[in-house]
Amino acid sequence: MAGLIEPYGGRLVNRMVGQEEAERTEKETDDLPHIHTILDQVYDAEKIGIGAYSPLEGFMSSSDYENVLSRGVLSNGLPWSMPIILTPTSTEPAFGVGDRVALTDVDGQVFATVDVEEIFPIDKKKLAQNVYGTTDTSHPNVAELPLLGDRSIGGRLRLLRRLRLPSVKHELTPNETREYFSSKGWQRVAGYQARNPPHTAHEYIQRVTLEREDIDGLFIQPIVGKLKKGDYKPEIIMRAYEAFTSNYYTTERVLLGSLSIAMRYAGPKAVLFYAIIRRNYGCSHYIVGRDQAGVGSFYDPYAAHRIFDQFDVGVTPLRYKESFYCLKCGTMASSKVCPHKEEDRLNVSQTKIRRMLAGGEKIPSEILRPEVAKILSEPDVFVQ
Ligand SMILES: [Zn+2]
Repeated sequence: MAGLIEPYGGRLVNRMVGQEEAERTEKETDDLPHIHTILDQVYDAEKIGIGAYSPLEGFMSSSDYENVLSRGVLSNGLPWSMPIILTPTSTEPAFGVGDRVALTDVDGQVFATVDVEEIFPIDKKKLAQNVYGTTDTSHPNVAELPLLGDRSIGGRLRLLRRLRLPSVKHELTPNETREYFSSKGWQRVAGYQARNPPHTAHEYIQRVTLEREDIDGLFIQPIVGKLKKGDYKPEIIMRAYEAFTSNYYTTERVLLGSLSIAMRYAGPKAVLFYAIIRRNYGCSHYIVGRDQAGVGSFYDPYAAHRIFDQFDVGVTPLRYKESFYCLKCGTMASSKVCPHKEEDRLNVSQTKIRRMLAGGEKIPSEILRPEVAKILSEPDVFVQ
C-alpha cells in the first residue's frame, strides 16, 4: 500500500511544544519583547506551528522571501508562491537579532515565540506587484498592505497553543486529517477549497470528483479566517457546509474541515499556495474551478488551471470548467457534456444567489439546496 501523499518537502513540520513546555515557556514570555501584528500573521504563525505550511518552520528569511517574490520558489528551489512574513505593527519594544520574541493573539495573549534570526525591510510596492500582479488599492489585499510594518522578522517559531477560534471543532491539524484519511482507508484524497457557502455548481464538481476511480475521499476545507467586506461570514459558511454535507454526503467519503487563514485573492499564486497547504493535510489531488481565489477582473479565470503546468508541487490538479443547470438536460452540466444553448441553462453563481436573496425571491433547488438557502436567508450574514 502506497499510503497518503508525503507532506510538502518530505516531512510534516511540528513546531507545537508539549503541554509542560508550553506552561513553562508561557511564564518565561513575561520577560520577552511582545510582538503585535495583524490578524493575517497571527493565523500564519499558528499554521506554521501545526505544519500546514511545511516545510516552513518559521517566518521567512530575506532569502526565501526574495526568491518567492522574484522566482516563485523558496531558497532551496521548492516552488512556493506566497510570502509568509512577520511584520510587527509597532517599532516598540526594541529587539534585535538573537532575541526571542513573544507573539500575541487578538486578545493580547501570548501564543507563540519566534527566535529572531534576521530583520529585513519590506518593499510593499514590490510585494503587491509580484504577488498580486497589481498596485491598485481597489484590490482587497493590496489595500491592506499599509497596515503591515516596514520590516520583517525571519526566524523559527514555537507554537505554545492553538488559537481560540469560533470554528475550533473543524480546525483540524494536518496530523489529524491524515489520521482520519488513514482510518477510512483513503490514499488518494482530493482537496476542495471554498470561501463561499455551497451551491449546486460547487456540488457538481465535488460529485464528479467523488465518482473518479482514482479518488478515495474528498476533503472540503473552507477558508474561514479573515475574508473581505461583503463576503459571507465565516460562521455562515461553516453552518451552510455542515447542513449541506450532513444531508447529502457520507463521512465514509467526505470530511469537512476549516482553515483559518486570511484569504489571499491572488488568483493563480493563491491557488498554488492553497494546493501546497492541502498536500500537507494529506491531499494528493486538488480541485480547481473557474476563477478560484480571484477578485473583480484582476485575473484570467483559468490562469489558476495553468499555473500547475508551470510549477510542480506534487499535487495533481483536477481542473473544472464552469458548470450550470441545463433545463433541457434536466441536470447539472458543463459545456463538456451539454450541447444546448445558453438560454436553456440556469447560470449558478454567488452573485445571482445574493441578488435573489436580497429581493426575497425563493431560490430554486436547482441552484441552492433548501438547507443552505434557509441559512443564507437569515439576517446579517455578510462581513461588514
Ligand atoms: Zn443541456
